[in-house]
Amino acid sequence: MARRDYYDVLGVKKNAGPDEIKRAFRTLALRYHPDRNQGDADAERSFREVAEAWSVVGDPEKRARYDRLGPLYTDSGRPPSSDQVNDMLRETFGNLFRRRRAEVGEDLTYTLSVSLEDAAKGIERTLVIQRQVRCVRCDGSGDHPENRIPCASCGGSGKSATRRLFRSECVACDGKGYKPTNRCDRCNAEKRVPLEETLRVKVPPGVATGSKLRLRQKGNDTLPVTGMAPGATGDLYVLVNVEEHALFRRRGPDLLCEVPVGFADLALGADLVVPTLEGTTTIRIPPGTPSGKSFRLPGRGLPGDSGKGDLHVKVDIETPTVLSADARAALQAFATATAGASHPKRTEFQDAVRGRR
Ligand SMILES: [Zn+2]
Ligand SMILES: [Zn+2]
Repeated sequence: MARRDYYDVLGVKKNAGPDEIKRAFRTLALRYHPDRNQGDADAERSFREVAEAWSVVGDPEKRARYDRLGPLYTDSGRPPSSDQVNDMLRETFGNLFRRRRAEVGEDLTYTLSVSLEDAAKGIERTLVIQRQVRCVRCDGSGDHPENRIPCASCGGSGKSATRRLFRSECVACDGKGYKPTNRCDRCNAEKRVPLEETLRVKVPPGVATGSKLRLRQKGNDTLPVTGMAPGATGDLYVLVNVEEHALFRRRGPDLLCEVPVGFADLALGADLVVPTLEGTTTIRIPPGTPSGKSFRLPGRGLPGDSGKGDLHVKVDIETPTVLSADARAALQAFATATAGASHPKRTEFQDAVRGRR
């Protein structure tokens, strides 16, 4: 794999001075440092790239050789190990990264409503969120870098001349090494600015209300604190809310659906059109089906831990409240014709009641 030009990696010109190169390395090393980008493989790759570039162009001898040989330059043929990188950082910036770290950035939450159908098959959705990110205009300092006046007490070093217990920062400037003059006009000295960000989130099939999806480092950046390495950016938690459905109730991966049916259909048997998540299907109920009976349609539920759930269709009798004259006559004829054997439970009940007299 072709190596990137080291000057390009550091974002400096070929003729940049040592101080400019050091500044560029410092900025990039801080941005991509693993402590600030936990678990981010891209950042780690960038960090190693930056460290490798610095190990060459930050060293006058190696830099001269690199300038002569260009892409043919080889140091040892291998990028520096993590230990070497940490040694380099320590040499260059003292114990910058070993200092107390600032708090981590705040986590954010976003409630995402999805339909039952979408929850069943999974869906990708676009979210627009607002999060607080470090101000790039002032790099989190809150003031204008170009207008800074070096601190008179410490001569700009930020260190106290007399080392005191627990702290060695200059008291006059709080360790900054300068006096801020005017506020940053981008963040108004808040050090962070709101950023509207559009994110894609994958909602996995079978999610339930209360499911949490974590989007790493899409929360707030830490509030910058002078003299402290920044803590990790917070995470974004997407809370899923599965909407109520007009036809289905959910029980884990299973779905329940109640179907109102006329008495005649239960008695005679019928083909019923019932809803499914995908549309409809037809089930045959046999003659003599009791009210309240459930029919199981395997695999027509939602994805669950142990495979797909089932759809349970429950038939419920609907008693007519209004009858036409024809319907009334037909029912009266039916009642006369079905005394006895057609209703064994009712006959048994009536016999028991009669025995009490
Ligand atoms: Zn000072
Ligand atoms: Zn700012």
